[in-house]
Amino acid sequence: MIDSVLMMLHAIERGDSAATFVRENPATAKVGVLDLGVTRGDGIFESVGVYSNVPLQLDAHLERLARSARMLDLPSLDLSVVKQAVLASIAAHEPAKELLSKIVITRGIEGGHGLTGWVLTTTGIDYSTARARGVRVVMLDRGYRSDVAQTAPWLLQGAKTLSYAVNKAALREAARRDADDVVFVSTDGVLLEGPASTVLLRTGDSLFTPAWDFGVLPGTTQRAVFDVAAGLGLDTSYARLTVDDLRNSDAAWLLSSGRLVAPIRAIDGQQHPVDASLTAALIERLTGPPGR
Ligand code: PLP
Repeated sequence: MIDSVLMMLHAIERGDSAATFVRENPATAKVGVLDLGVTRGDGIFESVGVYSNVPLQLDAHLERLARSARMLDLPSLDLSVVKQAVLASIAAHEPAKELLSKIVITRGIEGGHGLTGWVLTTTGIDYSTARARGVRVVMLDRGYRSDVAQTAPWLLQGAKTLSYAVNKAALREAARRDADDVVFVSTDGVLLEGPASTVLLRTGDSLFTPAWDFGVLPGTTQRAVFDVAAGLGLDTSYARLTVDDLRNSDAAWLLSSGRLVAPIRAIDGQQHPVDASLTAALIERLTGPPGR
């Protein structure tokens, strides 16, 4: 049974004459101890949800990979090779209802030339309970103002970098507070995002998500949700949202490629209403044939 497929990427900068990918055994493949991805977390990644062997929003993930590369001043990538590698790794995996393909690109070996990169397709985390039962979140201060992306772009807010130690620490803090996940808030009270998710609110027939200007990662799942919203009779807005907007919403969700749509059922220990029928309708549209 082939349950984990690795494609190592070679010479993937645009303009390299021989950009390629080569299948390797994930159990024995190696990344060097001088690799800047390992020593400094200096690199970027994407996690692509794969449903019934079809990668969702693959072009949007590739566009965002290129955006992150620009934000980190990495050389521009040959995205067509990355795309072929993703498709090949999915095709080589045992067919499954849900998979996750992770693309990783690092700045490469310190003092060397060229990027390090790979695509790994595996069975992802099982999010069925989060989708069905909902998640309990705590709101945590991110420690930055909401204009950080404009005033301090070197903090890389809104890039999908390999430096997720802070995001993981926030999730451990949530667990200490008897919650499952986090919604970050800026020092000036603006609602941001989860450590690995976009926040979505519904008030009446309107969906809201934090605008990208506030240093949040532009979510591919959120964009797909906005694309199908009109078909469900909902309008959509990017907005400056506050803690009270979340607390007073009719329903709220965390969105991401792996979990898709997980309703928020508690905020800082207070119950929050769950819209199970809209959750189910969104998941169906995101994963069903017309939404692909
Ligand atoms: N925001 C952050 C910080 C993330 O890490 C992620 C995904 O991991 C998201 C939002 C959601 O993005 P997407 O829906 O493209 O997976």
